[in-house]
Amino acid sequence: MKTTLEGIVSYAKQYGFIFQGSEIYGGLANTWDYGPLGVELKNNIKKAWWDAFVKTNKYNVGLDSSIFLNPETWVASGHVSGFQDPLMDCKSCKTRHRADKLIEAFSNGTVDADGWDKQKMYQYIVDNQIKCPKCGEVNYTEIREFNLMFKTAQGVVEDSKNIIYLRPETAQGIFLNFKNVQRTARKKVPFGIGQIGKSFRNEITPGNFIFRVREFEQMELEFFCKPGTEMEWFGYWKTYCADFLKSLGLSSDHIKLYNHPEEKLSFYSNATTDILYQYPWGFDELWGIASRTNYDLKSHMDHSGESLEYLDPETNEKYIPYVVEPSLGVERLFLALLTESLDEEVLGENDTRTILRIHKKLAPVSIAVLPLMKKYHTEKSEEIFALLSKHFNVQYDDAGNIGKRYRRQDAIGTPYCITIDEETLTLGTVTVRDRDTMSQIKLPVNELKTYFENQFE
Ligand code: ATP
Repeated sequence: MKTTLEGIVSYAKQYGFIFQGSEIYGGLANTWDYGPLGVELKNNIKKAWWDAFVKTNKYNVGLDSSIFLNPETWVASGHVSGFQDPLMDCKSCKTRHRADKLIEAFSNGTVDADGWDKQKMYQYIVDNQIKCPKCGEVNYTEIREFNLMFKTAQGVVEDSKNIIYLRPETAQGIFLNFKNVQRTARKKVPFGIGQIGKSFRNEITPGNFIFRVREFEQMELEFFCKPGTEMEWFGYWKTYCADFLKSLGLSSDHIKLYNHPEEKLSFYSNATTDILYQYPWGFDELWGIASRTNYDLKSHMDHSGESLEYLDPETNEKYIPYVVEPSLGVERLFLALLTESLDEEVLGENDTRTILRIHKKLAPVSIAVLPLMKKYHTEKSEEIFALLSKHFNVQYDDAGNIGKRYRRQDAIGTPYCITIDEETLTLGTVTVRDRDTMSQIKLPVNELKTYFENQFE
């Protein structure tokens, strides 16, 4: 089934994955709140990333640095002077647009204006009479550079000395702690530091649901290696990342690698590849993987005056490590997973079911406990709920007929349903139903824990 973006948005709302932010006040544009199922899915995504990139990866360790960093950080990183997008306003309808995106959309992606100067973009838009997507007029202001960092003031006095920024990426907190982590974790290069946390960007044109938002979470790895070995590691992490996505059930047909052409690379990067996913509107960036040379550590060294060099204990060589950075947005993976998994399955002539074929480990609810008849089976069902909920994410549902309850669990992607009936009371067995095949087996209650441990291994 081809899933549309509108279909995903309404599904996410209907089942309590994602709600419009501040809804009772009429909403706050492009903010989203994650409901009971959304928060579970998000947590499972983050856990899967952390397990793969930190916990089970022998090279890497974790970090949780603060959102507010010394403002000098953003001068050194280049964000104060360079983290900007070309913005233009439509004078007729007062909407704001990113000039490069207008060109990209107009040319159906065949013209990439990234790296063009303001004049060239403006001329292209005028020459091609590119219409405002909102009102259809061609009546724009000049292009201005717009810095994407959110500013705020620290402390009680608002003056320019107290200005601090909400971080636009988690990476810089890792660079600032490079020495602390290397020393205390007794790490030798090559090694990596992974971090998950909120980032903020004042995007000019947010949209496509949770794909481009102003407040989002990133899962970033900064991998430090010896200069000259970075291309080898770049290849290693590209494969590692693509394999990770496939292990979560994204089909390789829906994943594409886009290598940035050399002339389009950021000045500090010697190779960048985006992993694109086929979202409902087409292939778009899911994961950015960049070889960033020693740019960040070197800039922080120059600005702070602190040495961030590494002394190789075996060769006694001193150098500033090179960095490979795979950077992934939680929301973009969330949306990719919904796109991939949401399906409407035809079961019979007039029978369909909504099913979220999500990877078992990511499913917001792992097991549903369903008493067949509330009146007779509640006590035993509550016992089973208490037993399993210590180990798994279990939902208890006794409302409505059993068929409807199965369908609801299919729709939210619950891999297993347990039904408690008369046989449970007399023989001590329950029915376990599989989401994908709908097949049912009988199991003794005392074997449930081991059975599910094996299923979710
Ligand atoms: P784009 O070109 O889509 O704006 P980017 O190249 O600026 O993205 P990076 O700076 O490489 O993105 O950020 C790394 C990752 O963080 C992205 O691949 C994406 O998964 C996520 N990300 C970046 N910006 C946003 C956003 N506004 N909303 C949600 N996720 C984002």
